[in-house]
Amino acid sequence: MTTNEMRALVKAKPEVGLWMEHRPVPEIGPDDVLIRIHKTGICGTDIHIWNWDDWAQRTVPVPLVTGHEFAGEIVDMGRNVEDLKIGQRVSGEGHLIGKHSRQSRAGKFHLDPETRGIGVNEQGAFAEYLRLPAFNVVPLPDAIDDEIGAILDPLGNAVHTALSFDLVGEDLLITGAGPIGIMAGAVARHVGARHVVITDLNPDRLALARKVVKDVVVVDPKETDLAAIVSDLGMKQGFDVGLEMSGSQAALDQMVEALVMGGRIALLGIPPGKSPVDWSRIVFKAITIKGVYGREIFETWYKMIAMLENGLDVRPVITHRFKAADFRDGFETMRGGSSGKVVLDWR
Ligand code: NAD
Ligand code: ZN
Repeated sequence: MTTNEMRALVKAKPEVGLWMEHRPVPEIGPDDVLIRIHKTGICGTDIHIWNWDDWAQRTVPVPLVTGHEFAGEIVDMGRNVEDLKIGQRVSGEGHLIGKHSRQSRAGKFHLDPETRGIGVNEQGAFAEYLRLPAFNVVPLPDAIDDEIGAILDPLGNAVHTALSFDLVGEDLLITGAGPIGIMAGAVARHVGARHVVITDLNPDRLALARKVVKDVVVVDPKETDLAAIVSDLGMKQGFDVGLEMSGSQAALDQMVEALVMGGRIALLGIPPGKSPVDWSRIVFKAITIKGVYGREIFETWYKMIAMLENGLDVRPVITHRFKAADFRDGFETMRGGSSGKVVLDWR
């Protein structure tokens, strides 16, 4: 390997799998930085890309360096870059936004319709080096180490969703105890929700939720009806707020049933296709539904870093750590569906 080459985990062929290859170190433009990657997180999205499902085939160009959850350090900067320095530890927003849409010009960068994702549409972070626009860089304070830095992207999904509605003193239902649902539970606890209840069909996931979220009530909806939980916990009508984080139609139905009149739902989970919804139930309960995509740029980053510096602890959601060379083990673990976050080390 020559010095201008790097190891990268590449979707090299339009078929199942990812391949560790040597690729040129990305060239940076005047507004970019070059980041030496320290750690990366494996996301459900990366599993879709590995599996080469319909969505991945429609979306991902081949060849592509995959991965979008990362922490590292700046090793080179374009001539226009200010306020950052070589050696600085950073993570960053993986959504590359345009600057022309009405939303972008209004400062609502997370609503820009021209957004392109690193590791999905553009060259990604599963590599020794990543090119990123300086605009997207988020410096890491000392209190946030590299492995937490590597999961800020999904923690950001959790924070964005959880902070969609006021949770102070409210009773919260989260459906889906994947890494994001669990981290949303921890955030809700941190900001002062009253009861935090989380459902999943997988006992390993419910056990992990218990480890990460203080005083959480975990429920397998196949075994326990949510109405029983509502009455056990002494709630009068039901949950005030729901965070849907499973992508399951059944979970959304249960959530609508278990909410109070005038309840609020933030939807992060992505259902596999079209699914039937009992709209009249939602209308008669006067429920507000908000779709949530990505993170608010950069308000979510600001809030999550502030919370991490002040007692929010999501580290136990990281259940597995591998060297990048052992990426197959990492993907196998994620594909098993019972792990928390899986982090790869690139140094
Ligand atoms: P995950 O797949 O690890 O977790 C989903 C969990 O839901 C699993 O543990 C599964 O057992 C559980 N589940 C399935 N059916 C259920 C049911 N009927 N009731 C309760 N739980 C059920 O996913 P994740 O990485 O934690 O992400 C959560 C969701 O958010 C996924 O749907 C993902 O695609 C989506 N997502 C959306 C965005 C966005 O920007 N909108 C970003 C990241 C992830
Ligand atoms: Zn992700």
